[in-house]
Amino acid sequence: MSASFSNKEPFSSWGRIDRRLYPVARPRFAADLAKAIAAPDRPASVLPVGLGRSYGDSCLNAEGGLIVMTGLNRLIEIDEQGMVMRAQAGLSLGEALRVLTPKGLFLPVLPGSQFVTLGGAVANDVHGKNHLKNGTFGRWVRRIGLQRSHGPALSLAPDDPSGLFAATMGGFGLTGAISWVEIGLAPIGSAFLDAEDIPFSSLDEYFQLMAESETFEQRVAWIDCTRPGRGVFTRANVRHDGNFQIGPARPALSAPLDGASFLFNGVTLRAFNFAYAAAHRASVRPVHYSKFYFPLDAVGDWNRLYGARGFRQYQCVVPEGAARDAVHEMLYLIARSGEGSMLAVLKAFGPKPSPGLMSFATEGHTLALDFPNHGERTLRLMARLDEIVLEAGGRIYAGKDGRAPARTFQRMYPRWRELERMRDPAIRSDFWSRVSAT
Ligand SMILES: Cc1cc2nc3c(=O)[nH]c(=O)nc-3n(C[C@H](O)[C@H](O)[C@H](O)COP(=O)(O)OP(=O)(O)OC[C@H]3O[C@@H](n4cnc5c(N)ncnc54)[C@H](O)[C@@H]3O)c2cc1C
Repeated sequence: MSASFSNKEPFSSWGRIDRRLYPVARPRFAADLAKAIAAPDRPASVLPVGLGRSYGDSCLNAEGGLIVMTGLNRLIEIDEQGMVMRAQAGLSLGEALRVLTPKGLFLPVLPGSQFVTLGGAVANDVHGKNHLKNGTFGRWVRRIGLQRSHGPALSLAPDDPSGLFAATMGGFGLTGAISWVEIGLAPIGSAFLDAEDIPFSSLDEYFQLMAESETFEQRVAWIDCTRPGRGVFTRANVRHDGNFQIGPARPALSAPLDGASFLFNGVTLRAFNFAYAAAHRASVRPVHYSKFYFPLDAVGDWNRLYGARGFRQYQCVVPEGAARDAVHEMLYLIARSGEGSMLAVLKAFGPKPSPGLMSFATEGHTLALDFPNHGERTLRLMARLDEIVLEAGGRIYAGKDGRAPARTFQRMYPRWRELERMRDPAIRSDFWSRVSAT
């Protein structure tokens, strides 16, 4: 039965460092969810999860069970005039886009993968390449359904006086299971964007390009970690050609073999070098939304390419004033270590405040890159990156992290105790046990 916990099922986060079997409940109806989270015979603790696209341990619960929310994936209502969608929280962003696009409507904020659920997008208050214009995902959320282990199902809006709405936006699933999400939509004139790639050869040029591209909604840079400072800056706006072609439901390719990260790095670096060379010649090119927003989704299970030991991702944000020095220092440290992936992503967050108590996005520049898991060596390097980030007054993205010690996390997120007070006592995650230790 979908409300009860199965014997055991495998589950891992995207980094695949900790793979194990969990008692799992897969609710298909709201009533199943209420039963699963409150059942007297449930595991000692539970954690609602989506598609496991978080890289670290925020979607893991080694000491208890998981409530996998992907069976609660129905679209409830689209108000085309009012530009609002309400859907169950297990619906993926990609599936929502496949319904919305032909109507000339779109989700206003998208992370780099379509295989993310609405609930997961709320629980990490995700951001996209257009933070300067639209802020985080949570800013567009009008109302959520929340099922806690005690009491009736709640319906919460941003003006909720209890603070539970704010605690749930970017609240890592700890306040309860998000059962449905009502979100404002953006109108689009096409499923395609006009994108422009501009090569740059120093970080100063990146900062200048970011500042002078304010008429572009989408802005992101790819940095060559083998030659820090060299990169391609991409900026884009949605077209107005009335072509509402939807994106693919599944990846076009699948990972050829486990552990072929050299292949992945080789392919991404070749693609980068091609883009870098082409950017010197090219002008504006039309790109479908699926390729623009979700380039990595083209290869299914690409995370397996890092092999049996898995990988970690490091993502941080540092405030504008300190960003130039901090990003420079991090990139040179990474290049010297020879540990990082060959490409890093650098983008900007604007001043629009995030609605969550613990939302990651704050004004500044955000750097993200992968590290193949080489055990202690990788952890030492990431700890040094933490020091640079702390010194700059920045913070790391908990949805990507799986190792920062409690003292580091608590300095970066001083309001963590407020979330702890709002946490549903039946809910636990490996991440929260790690970072809330005193
Ligand atoms: C290729 C790739 C690119 C990415 N790019 C970006 C990016 O650009 N920006 C960005 O912000 N993130 C990005 N991410 C991270 C991703 O958007 C987040 O980790 C997202 O939260 C994953 O959603 P999920 O449905 O897979 O949830 P999971 O990873 O399964 O869970 C994530 C968190 O949400 C909680 N949760 C999930 N569903 C519910 C629910 N219904 N109720 C309560 N809690 C719930 C879980 O407890 C957990 O804390 C990327 C990830 C990948 C793999």
